[in-house]
Amino acid sequence: MMASGHQAMGLTWGVAAITFSHLLPIEIIGINETILFIIIVMIGALLPDMDSKSSKLGRYAYPIAISVTALAGALYIWQPEQFWTFIDEEMTFVLATIVLVFFILSSHRTWTHSLLFIALMTVYLSLVSTWFVIPDYLQYGLVLGVASHIFGDFLTKRGVPLLHPITKRNFRFPLSFRTGSSAERIVVVALIVINVWLISSRNGWI
Ligand SMILES: [Zn+2]
Repeated sequence: MMASGHQAMGLTWGVAAITFSHLLPIEIIGINETILFIIIVMIGALLPDMDSKSSKLGRYAYPIAISVTALAGALYIWQPEQFWTFIDEEMTFVLATIVLVFFILSSHRTWTHSLLFIALMTVYLSLVSTWFVIPDYLQYGLVLGVASHIFGDFLTKRGVPLLHPITKRNFRFPLSFRTGSSAERIVVVALIVINVWLISSRNGWI
């Protein structure tokens, strides 16, 4: 799916989450929170494709991310006391960010389009929120945006490696379209029309 499609998909998921927020473990109150939530969902919806222009960097990114994780993991297992004297809270944050950024850069529609990436984002956000106050609804929004992106690409012919790295197989919806095709454009326009109608009727504009 192209970036415009992902934005429309993110908007749809964001509006749906607000509509059904009483069923979700989040609270979104007032127009400011609503707008911020939608913006965060739409940023999340672009995140998995951040890798596309970084092939050169990506070549080294994956081994670096693996090495940092392995080193930190090994230190934690064999020298737990050393681990906590060497790695304080800020250090953990820096390490977690490095690993996440490098994983994104190295992905090429692999890591960032899997269920593992959603789990990784959730863990990362809960790590970050131990030092910075990030309201729950914004954390939720970012993960929701990422999920909407993966769903969007799940609808394309190419599909997504949902279970990467367990299997590299691409999964796709039985009814799929080609990225950039007129079918995709029709879906995108339909999503925008539905969203505008939903938002307008919710606010009593029509
Ligand atoms: Zn994608």
